[in-house]
Amino acid sequence: MSRRGELDAIVVGGGAIGAALALGLARDGFDVALVEARAPKPWRADDDVDLRVVALAADARALFEDLGVWTAIAGGRIGPYRRMRVWDALAPGELAFDAAENGEAALGWIIENALIQHALWNALGAGTHARVLCPAEVAGVENDDDGIVAMLAEGTRLRARVLVAADGAGSPLRSALGIGCDDRDYAQRAVVANVATARAHEDTAWQRFLPGGPLAFLPLADGRSSIVWSLPNDEAARVLALDDAAFRAELGAAFDFRLGEITASTQRAAFPLRLRLAKRYVAGRAVLAGDAAHVVHPLAGQGMNLGFRDVACLRRVLRDARDRGADIGAAHVLRRYERERRSENALAARGLDAIGRLFAARDPVTPALRGFGLAAVNHLAPVKHLFASIAAGRS
Ligand SMILES: Cc1cc2nc3c(=O)[nH]c(=O)nc-3n(C[C@H](O)[C@H](O)[C@H](O)COP(=O)(O)OP(=O)(O)OC[C@H]3O[C@@H](n4cnc5c(N)ncnc54)[C@H](O)[C@@H]3O)c2cc1C
Repeated sequence: MSRRGELDAIVVGGGAIGAALALGLARDGFDVALVEARAPKPWRADDDVDLRVVALAADARALFEDLGVWTAIAGGRIGPYRRMRVWDALAPGELAFDAAENGEAALGWIIENALIQHALWNALGAGTHARVLCPAEVAGVENDDDGIVAMLAEGTRLRARVLVAADGAGSPLRSALGIGCDDRDYAQRAVVANVATARAHEDTAWQRFLPGGPLAFLPLADGRSSIVWSLPNDEAARVLALDDAAFRAELGAAFDFRLGEITASTQRAAFPLRLRLAKRYVAGRAVLAGDAAHVVHPLAGQGMNLGFRDVACLRRVLRDARDRGADIGAAHVLRRYERERRSENALAARGLDAIGRLFAARDPVTPALRGFGLAAVNHLAPVKHLFASIAAGRS
């Protein structure tokens, strides 16, 4: 710990983003405390594949390698996706991406959220200088001129030069810091399940746009697919209540039987979908990262990818400040992070929002336009490569 028992950084929230950040800052030589309210869900190789998975791109892998957790994650249970196919229920045309076109083995990987958190927490527990406080809840924060204090619910006070709120989409700290959001309820829920299909998934991430929302099939390592089916709230409630046979029949039809019949399915879960963008990322010596700063539609699997880019950026900015002998919690330092990340995150969120709206439009003209758009993009090599680069995290 630095002067007067003060930490360099407090990270609140030990989800994937907070845990990666705490580990990264500790590896960078900062004194860090990670405060998490709930112990992470255990991940065991013998358990069935968890319902919560994410599609992560190349730059997330680079971060994991840098943090020394990629071997543990890759040795766990991950499904590479080598191709992507995107098509529309109402119009012709298809977008096709292939990792081989860019000379790469995979566009990305489908990984269980619990495995990511498990690997990060194991690494945090193995000889880093991060202090992990769990279960412990931050009840409030106090900024002053040369430090910030996190007040834990049980009475402990932690003082640091900077505090990062990585406390998720509902971020109690974001509200406590007086940071407002642009917020829109999509009135949709994403229904998730793991399913077996008659035909092999071919290491391909498939997405079909339907009028009610997109339906994705993501390839799991065990040959099944993880589905993310975005539906209007009432439809989601109906689909959740179907018996297994009816669910499989409806899902197969909604997916145009692209992988044949759905032959088995697990239990289902659903997550409400919102667009939520924090109006600023900095309040005094506190900054937002991950879902606390931006919640996006899952249609292109970008939420956690964007959060990991927050992590990489914040580490770089704090390291640079330290190397210059500057105060790592100074306003001009934290604003540099805000400037870089807020614009990229907002652009991604608005782009996803626009795509979602375009494909949800029910008027007779729009389907023709978007069909033309998909076909055109697929035949314009430079534009397509740009799309593929963004999807693969090389933007
Ligand atoms: C259906 C669905 C599919 C998705 N698919 C993808 C995908 O394919 N690719 C992708 O990149 N992203 C995807 N996402 C988004 C991704 O899941 C999120 O962006 C990511 O999980 C956010 O991580 P986080 O660490 O910011 O937040 P969280 O995982 O929510 O972690 C926040 C943590 O903070 C803790 N906490 C909260 N308050 C306090 C407090 N006061 N004190 C202490 N601790 C506190 C919580 O207990 C929690 O552990 C998807 C999301 C959904 C809903």
